[in-house]
Amino acid sequence: MSRARVLVLNSALGPLDYRVPHGMAVEPGSVVVAPLGPRQLLGVVWEPDYMPSDAEVGDNRLRPLLAVADVPPLGAALRRLVEWTAAYYLAPPASVVRMSLASTSALEGARTVTEYRIGGTIPARLTPQREQALARIGDRQGLIRELATAADVSDAVIRGLVKCGAIEAVEVDIDSPYPRPDPAFGPPMLSDQQRDAADTLVAAVAARAFQPTLLDGVTGSGKTEVYFEAIAEAIRAGRQTIVLLPEIALTEPFLKRFHDRFGCEPVAWHSGLRSTQRRRAWRAIASGEALVTVGARSALFLPYRNLGLIVVDEAHETSFKQEDGVHYHARDVAVMRGKFEACPVILASATPAIETRQQVALGRYAELKLPARFGSAELPTIEAIDLIEHPPERGRWLAPKLVAALGETLERREQALLFLNRRGYAPLTLCRTCGHRFQCPNCTAWMVEHRLTRRLACHHCGHIEPVPRLCPECKNEDTLVACGPGVERIADEVTALFPAAKVAVVTSDTIWSPAKAAEFVGRMEAGDIDIVVGTQLVTKGYHFPNLTLVGVVDADLGLEGGDLRAAERTFQQIRQVSGRAGRGEKPGHVYIQTHSPKAQVMRALITGDADAFYEAETDARKDAGAPPFGRYAAIVVSSEDQACANDTAKLVGRTAPLVDGMAVYGPAPAPLAMLRGRHRYRLLVHARRALDVQDVIRDWLGALDWPAKVRVTVDVDPYSFL
Ligand code: ADP
Ligand code: ZN
Repeated sequence: MSRARVLVLNSALGPLDYRVPHGMAVEPGSVVVAPLGPRQLLGVVWEPDYMPSDAEVGDNRLRPLLAVADVPPLGAALRRLVEWTAAYYLAPPASVVRMSLASTSALEGARTVTEYRIGGTIPARLTPQREQALARIGDRQGLIRELATAADVSDAVIRGLVKCGAIEAVEVDIDSPYPRPDPAFGPPMLSDQQRDAADTLVAAVAARAFQPTLLDGVTGSGKTEVYFEAIAEAIRAGRQTIVLLPEIALTEPFLKRFHDRFGCEPVAWHSGLRSTQRRRAWRAIASGEALVTVGARSALFLPYRNLGLIVVDEAHETSFKQEDGVHYHARDVAVMRGKFEACPVILASATPAIETRQQVALGRYAELKLPARFGSAELPTIEAIDLIEHPPERGRWLAPKLVAALGETLERREQALLFLNRRGYAPLTLCRTCGHRFQCPNCTAWMVEHRLTRRLACHHCGHIEPVPRLCPECKNEDTLVACGPGVERIADEVTALFPAAKVAVVTSDTIWSPAKAAEFVGRMEAGDIDIVVGTQLVTKGYHFPNLTLVGVVDADLGLEGGDLRAAERTFQQIRQVSGRAGRGEKPGHVYIQTHSPKAQVMRALITGDADAFYEAETDARKDAGAPPFGRYAAIVVSSEDQACANDTAKLVGRTAPLVDGMAVYGPAPAPLAMLRGRHRYRLLVHARRALDVQDVIRDWLGALDWPAKVRVTVDVDPYSFL
């Protein structure tokens, strides 16, 4: 090939043609360096007929490619996935392919670092410092800095030892191989029910064909153990597995369980990796050596060489939806990747999304059920506390019944979890004298008080301010009052009620890394925590056998927004958090504080009749033509200049095409009318399922022009309606 079409990593551009210089070999998928103006950009060689440009450049005017990276070409299945994702989510293909090349240092070819260890000749006479260093280093190996720290001496001491030959340098390949998981290391004794499900999944892996399967099992039924058997089969076949988790905080407990089952940890992929770790993981994934990779949604686009299985755990989680950059839903893209790679996809959940249940109903996905908890564990009993009939004491948030249950739990030396999906101390702070409310200067949102850090914070843009002593408006002193509870306030209440109890607040403010999550798990297991007060971060995944009481502080909170999935999400979240109770030998109890115990979703939670709830929800969606029976796309127009944003939004609204089976609502100011200093307007497109709404939107917006300071983003299958 003397001419190559290249997808350069510049989202503003489509594929560009280049000349392949003499002696350079490229094929579709090759990662290359291409000139663009005065710059050099990474790119990927694509099929020559992908998105042909109008202006064909003659062969003699093409610029030559500069280099080819020493990594395997991106496979055809991944290239098809990139094309599908770009077309479906109306995103520039370059933005999608950028997620595949998520480690630029990985593209730089083999590399080594110099490490040091004791060796060579040890002189007869040593200073006390040098002697201490050698004694403490022992058989350790590392960078100079690391050895100095380990030996508690200065870097200069180590360098001196290198000079005199007591410490020697060794070149280390930074891409050292990963250990290979052993499918026979620690297989569990599965129950009959688990065995049946596992056998089906193992057969699907062996068949090497596309097969999406919903693994629908109640919390604690052993879904993880069951899909581990499918992973074991993929490992035996030498094929790769991706496990997607909704939250990086869940990675750590997963690594531990995986280690127990397979004798070593899988490759972890998340935003917390250092650049060398990222490089090592990327290269092992691309070479096929990394047999099992666990990660957040970004792990989905990596260039697995030889994919045999995809698992999406807690598949109903809305955090699989990416809300910036490419607005994709990792669960849906995972299924498409399975299709292109011809491998099975397992969606594991105790509370499957209505979208997924519908695919099962249509016969497109298989379904495996695990209706009972493993072993002697029973599902917890669930009871509502009517906040109108049995309100908490004045100025408190926990009703007497829940407080009594907490007391009994502590007496039995068991653990309790209080769930409230609100970080910080209070969601709103106001001045008792003049009524001043603290609002974020950049967003249409109240500032949330965080007492632990003594700050007011905006949860939308991250803006923070110290809590002032004077009201900024009326200048009175000490007049600020906190309105409503956040987790920190609940923790204060619990501490006041039970001064001896060890209380931990668990939110993204306190658990921001896998290491922090591991620390929390360790403390729970050691009995170092009696009561956890947490946000949705603690609702899923964790398995604490001694946790027997769960209290939902405000079950109505999730229904407030009132968007399309509010009831479903509330049901899922409370079912999940309830699922943390009574996972061991001891029975669990759940109390749900609500103002409307008769609401359908509350009744479904109490009776445990998930099917009735899902049926009613599904019918309502069908009547409304809402997903999965119809399709939405949101168009958000934003700018720092309000008039400009408004004008463009009106232009978009005015030019909406008249298409049978499609309606356009808006523009209207978004509920979050200002975000990070940008004014926002929304339009909502509602279309029949069969309509190629992406095509319509592409033509529609493609024909419009707007000022450079205006941003127009399209969110296909939106989950956020703010
Ligand atoms: P789920 O993911 O469905 O909530 P898990 O896979 O976390 O359930 O299993 C719940 C608990 O039961 C875990 O501690 C798990 O190790 C244990 N468990 C499940 N199945 C088995 C089994 N067959 N043998 C031993 N322990 C099991
Ligand atoms: Zn803000």
